[in-house]
Formats: sequence, C-alpha cells, structure tokens
Amino acid sequence: MTSSTPPTSSERIHGRTAEEWAGALPLLKPLTAMTETSWFNPDIRGAAEGLADVGLARADIEDAAARLKRFAPYLAAVFPDTRATLGILESPLVAIPSMQADMERDCGHAVAGRLWLKLDSELPISGSIKARGGIYEVLKHTEDLAVSAGLIGYDDDYAVLAGPEAADFFSGYSVAVGSTGNLGLSIGVMSAELGFRAVVHMSADARQWKKDMLRAHGVEVVEHASDYSEAVRRGRAQAEDDPTCFFIDDENSRNLFLGYSVAAHRLAGQLQALDITVDERHPLLVHLPCGVGGGPGGVAFGLKVEFGDAARVVFAEPTHCPSMFLGVYTGLHSAMSVQDFGIDNVTAADGLACGRPSGFVGRAMQHLIDGFVTVDDDHLYTLLAQLHEAEGIDIEPSSTAGLLGPVRVSEDADYRVRLGLDDRTLARATHIVWATGGSMVPRPEMNEYVRRGRELLRNRCGRLVGAEPSKRSG
Ligand SMILES: *Cc1c(COP(=O)(O)O)cnc(C)c1O
Repeated sequence: MTSSTPPTSSERIHGRTAEEWAGALPLLKPLTAMTETSWFNPDIRGAAEGLADVGLARADIEDAAARLKRFAPYLAAVFPDTRATLGILESPLVAIPSMQADMERDCGHAVAGRLWLKLDSELPISGSIKARGGIYEVLKHTEDLAVSAGLIGYDDDYAVLAGPEAADFFSGYSVAVGSTGNLGLSIGVMSAELGFRAVVHMSADARQWKKDMLRAHGVEVVEHASDYSEAVRRGRAQAEDDPTCFFIDDENSRNLFLGYSVAAHRLAGQLQALDITVDERHPLLVHLPCGVGGGPGGVAFGLKVEFGDAARVVFAEPTHCPSMFLGVYTGLHSAMSVQDFGIDNVTAADGLACGRPSGFVGRAMQHLIDGFVTVDDDHLYTLLAQLHEAEGIDIEPSSTAGLLGPVRVSEDADYRVRLGLDDRTLARATHIVWATGGSMVPRPEMNEYVRRGRELLRNRCGRLVGAEPSKRSG
C-alpha cells in the first residue's frame, strides 16, 4: 500500500532491523532520507557472462524486430504520423552541447565525452518510450490471435488488419493494463485502434490529460486512488476472471522487455550514420530513467547484445522512488517495495513512480547495469527548464532523470578506475541520455513545468547539480 510511516527502530524490514540494514548497507541512509544518491555496482560482469543470466538472446530481439516490421504497413495505414517512416516507430538522436556546457557550469567540473539526447519523447502514437514495449506487446498478442483465427498469415500484408473484418473480430477480445500513464496511453490507443475493448487501470499519479486522451480514443479508464503496484494488481485480478481478456503485466512481461530491446540495433545504425565509433576505446554510456525497469532493462539488454562491454548503462530514478536501485542494492528485488523502507513514492516523476521493481529485470540484469543514480524532484524541474532554454527541447519531468548520470560518472573515481574509464578514455566517450517522454504533454502543462524549473533555478542557493557530495558514494 502507499502508506509509508518510517519503520521504527524495533520493527523488522524483511527480517532485519533498520539499524542492521544501515550497518550492512551504508547507502540505505541517504536513500531512505530521500536525498540524491548514486551507487556503481561493484559486482558488474562482462557482457558475455552477464547475458547468460538473462534467459533471452539475440535471436529473441531479432524475432521482435521482424514482428515490428511485419506490422509496419498496418501502422503506416492507421497512424498518419508513422507514414514518413513506413510504419517503423523510431526517434531522433541529437547532440546537446549547450546543455552539456550548462551542466558543467553547474557542477563545476567537466563532463567528459560528448552528450547526446535520444528523443523517445518524440516517438509516434504515444510520445514516450512506451511506444516501443507497450505497442510491441499489443501487436504480438494481435498477431497470435489473428494468425490462429486465419485472419492473416506471416507473409501477408498486415494492412488488412486495418479493415472492418479484423476490427469486428478483435471486438470480441479485450486488452487490460495497469499504468502510471504512459504505458496505458500506448497500450490503450493501440488496442482501441485495432478494435479491442481496451481497459486501462490508472494509478493516482496519472496526469489528467493522459486519461482524457485515452477516453477520447474510446478506452475505458479505471481510476484508482492507490499507487501503481495496486493499479496493476487490480487490473490483473479483473482480467483473471475473463478468458477473452489479455492482461499486459508490466511487472513481469518479457514481451514488453523485448519490444524495448529492439532500440539498440537501430541505435547502432544511427551512430554509424553520425560517424560515431563505439568500441572498448570509445565507450558508449547510456543513461536511462527507470520506473518498474522493463523499459530501461530492455534497452540495456539490447545494448549489451549489440555493443558488448563497450556499452555501459546507468539507471536514474527519483529520490522518492528508487525501487530498482533498492531492489538490486539489497538483493531483495521484487520481494520489496520502497514503502517497506519508509520511502513514500510521492514524486513529480509520474512515469517512474513504481514502488516495487519488476519481477525479473533486476535479477536478470543486475550484473550488466553499472550504476544507479537518484534525482531530486526539484532537480528534475531545473534540468527540464535548462534543456528548454539551452536546446529548445521540451520533455516531461520523469524524462529528465537521465541527465544527471554523466555528471555522476565523471565524479565517481572508484567506478572509473574499476572500468578503465580514465580521463583520456572518457574524453572519447559518447553519453546518450534517454529522454523517455514528453512531446504529447499539453502546452499549458509544459509551460507550467518550465515556469516551475525557472523559478527553482532563480531561487536556488548554491549549485544543484553536484550538490551535497557527502551524501553520495565515493
Ligand atoms: C515508463 C517510463 C519510464 C521507465 O520505464 P519502466 O519500464 O517503467 O522502467 C521512463 N520514463 C518515462 C517517461 C516513462 O513513461
């Protein structure tokens, strides 16, 4: 549940008292105090060894990419904004040198390497990274149903699915999902377009405009007063009673994960077109905002398969919801929620407000994710305003979390020595910050975010980026 009275000293949290936890794991103190913290996992493994634990392989990513290609003619037929890419949903990669200069001024030291922004905020259909995994899983289910009903064969032109016969067939089925907003948006819009009855269970964090947009698409929106995990639980329970209902389980789905993973091979093509080298001498550091973990986990999996040890991955979470960080750091993974440790899961980063991490991503990926960084809500807003000013790019608060990663990497001497990221190597590095959402935020709401960030920038005393170094790991 969402209640999060800090545990008292005698109370046990997963078998240990708060003192025992703090003694064993020193970063629990700043984490539970909800201050900015970073941790670079000492138990990191080489890509080949780490990937052996995942239980999925390159062939699974290729299978997902091929499925997306089969559906491309259908997507181009029904979504006009996907026509220019013939139904392939992909986002731009842009350099952000002015933002990098701003960040360096703020933190008082160089952020070595070149900073790029991956604009998943501009993905068609839902304006977020969820247009990868969420839409992929709906299409996978659609194909399974349509092929077994004889509606299509794998070699057919899937554009026939845009016709009335298909919609009539799908109207006998429903798709349900629990979401903090963006996943519901992707799955709801996609399912309703195909003709499914679509039901989205929204957590209390979900923004009103996302619910309004879904209803305008004919999606049934069920509003819950509780947090994300509870919305998922309720959605799952409702779907269990109905054999025609397919529940998309963000906390456990390997299909969602695979949908995200397709990004990496396409990114390799974008980097090549920009003449950017990625190898051991030219590392690629990718900074991903993390909620339940499926999105960043899937992208990270793809990156490790594509680039091996040349790709380094850092996850970013709000200080009020460091669920993947805590899950991996304590080794409890999905057995715990942030609330168990007295962390409230109240954050402006609605896209990341998942108190319990994924049931498989942390365990599968823990030796492949270099680091975890938490970002204060005010800091999300100041980064948002700085990006607006410096680059003219607007993204939602959740989506800015990755921007702190490059700063933390440059500050963590232990990590850099351990991974061989000396000054000269890091100067050759490419940092990609994944901007995970924002292009569909209504203008007045975006203006308000920017105003808020500007106000914080004006009022802050001292530096925000790089503030309070004593509260972070060495
Ligand atoms: C969902 C989401 C993420 C993270 O994805 P998870 O799969 O929940 O970890 C990041 N940013 C935004 C804007 C999102 O909507």
